[in-house]
Amino acid sequence: MPSTMKKPFNYVENAAVTAAVKRARTGQPAQIGPDPALHSQDAELHWVEAVLRHRLSLRSLNRPVSIRAKDDDIHPLVADGQHFPAVALSIPFADRTLTFLASYDDRRRLVFDLLAPCERCGAPVPAEEINSLEDLGDYLLQARDTLGGSPRLRTSPAHAAGCLARGD
Ligand SMILES: [Zn+2]
Repeated sequence: MPSTMKKPFNYVENAAVTAAVKRARTGQPAQIGPDPALHSQDAELHWVEAVLRHRLSLRSLNRPVSIRAKDDDIHPLVADGQHFPAVALSIPFADRTLTFLASYDDRRRLVFDLLAPCERCGAPVPAEEINSLEDLGDYLLQARDTLGGSPRLRTSPAHAAGCLARGD
């Protein structure tokens, strides 16, 4: 661990960093298999939560990880969509909360973005697309060049009016 790190990582973050370092070393992410299926009896919020747990391999940590899932008031489920809200998923820790936004990308895949303050306006916006434990580890290590930012950063309606980070 670099000595410049301010806060100790919790167990999810530690697992993420370990996975990211391993992927960087081997060039291979862990094989986690297909997402859980959406069964008609599932509430969609529960399904989205199950997919996030699967993508982040949280079950493999052998410790409980609580996730709060709720409709997001600001972001749409589908780009340019009006009717359905995206899902906000928060993982609370003692010293911080990681919040993910679940929405569909332009290929209709469910994708997760980590919400973080906009560098210009400070509003919480989709900063990085995080679809694996390795992606989360790269984010925590600030290896941003391997991630490249979320495609939804520029289109987020969460930016303050006139924020230059928002594209047209
Ligand atoms: Zn902004």
